[in-house]
Amino acid sequence: MSWTFSERARKLTSSAIREILKVTERPEVISFAGGLPSPATFPVDRIRKACEDILTTAPSPALQYGPTEGYLPLREWVAERYSKDGVKIGVNQVLITTGSQQGLDLLGKVLIDVGSRVLVETPTYLGALQAFSLSEPTFVSVPSDDSGPIPSALTRDLTDGARFMYCLPNFQNPTGRRLPTDRRQQLTKIAGEAGLLLLEDDPYGALSYKGEQLPTLLSMNPQGVVHMGSFSKVFAPGFRVGYLIAPEKLHGKLVQAKQAADLHTPSFTQRVVHEAIKTGFLDDHIPKIRELYASQCRVMLEAMKHHFPASVQWNEPEGGMFIWVKLPKGVDSMKLLDKAIAQNVAFVPGAPFFANEPQSNTLRLSFVTVPQAKIEEGIAKLGALLKSEIGG
Ligand code: PMP
Repeated sequence: MSWTFSERARKLTSSAIREILKVTERPEVISFAGGLPSPATFPVDRIRKACEDILTTAPSPALQYGPTEGYLPLREWVAERYSKDGVKIGVNQVLITTGSQQGLDLLGKVLIDVGSRVLVETPTYLGALQAFSLSEPTFVSVPSDDSGPIPSALTRDLTDGARFMYCLPNFQNPTGRRLPTDRRQQLTKIAGEAGLLLLEDDPYGALSYKGEQLPTLLSMNPQGVVHMGSFSKVFAPGFRVGYLIAPEKLHGKLVQAKQAADLHTPSFTQRVVHEAIKTGFLDDHIPKIRELYASQCRVMLEAMKHHFPASVQWNEPEGGMFIWVKLPKGVDSMKLLDKAIAQNVAFVPGAPFFANEPQSNTLRLSFVTVPQAKIEEGIAKLGALLKSEIGG
């Protein structure tokens, strides 16, 4: 039997992070590497009740094929939630996706040709780089600082001919940074004038520790932005239910691409999510997640102040699940990881999150799944390792 992989498949590689996570699954390892939400936040009782109600009242449609666009009441819920501050989102703009990761995949398929220029933040979400890479774009890294991409860096050289810019305005994966409102305004203005489509990936927006949310890019230019949201971080990731909101012309093309990919997101999971949230459940539930993550974050930041050498820098996130660490120039966090794992503590090296010119002295710490007592222990180990490697 003779067969060959496609050119495209030959270029595929496994995510560096997945390989790392395999090692960190050993129970003795204190892992700050995983990007998973805390299972303590999964609303098991609410889900059990919603499943029972659905199987009692609507078993046939819940177990039958459904429309590619998604379960209409869930699409209506999304449209209503985003229709505020003078912005009206039509249900025809909403597509339910199999996790927001599928949104990235579909957008890559319908917007990128081989060699198309795609603008990304520096650094950016690795999963998006992977999804877009299948369509073989040329990634252009937009200069960014601790607050996110720098709007004035979006010169015509960068924007002309680019298919889109991929943006993560809230508590970005991997840095945890949040784009300030004035930058959001500048970014949407510059992009609007240049005819540059913005993709706004926003799975963490609701997880602001103080509860205050900044206006979305979508609200600033609904015709020039595709917004992606997800129930993974505020409900349960195992459901694989996300959504996107797109201008209608683009929406139609995305529906065709989704039809080819998986016909539709499972009818059952969509209905369970909708049944569980339709009467305001998330308004009670999300504050509990925020509170837990805020206190986990505080514990980690305190421990870092205590144990990390003075030459190491990090941000203090206002929400989300991640802290971004910068080691002195010349220190390679990938090499450090082997030594850390030997001491039973793990993190994710920063280099894979850069589309170009990786800054290998960076790393990502996730604080949401490790019990608080273990956070202190793990950070103490990491601090001791850093001191022995770089001094201070
Ligand atoms: N975007 C970002 C920035 C993420 O961090 C993740 C999950 N790690 C996703 C998209 C995908 O989320 P999901 O498919 O579970 O909605």
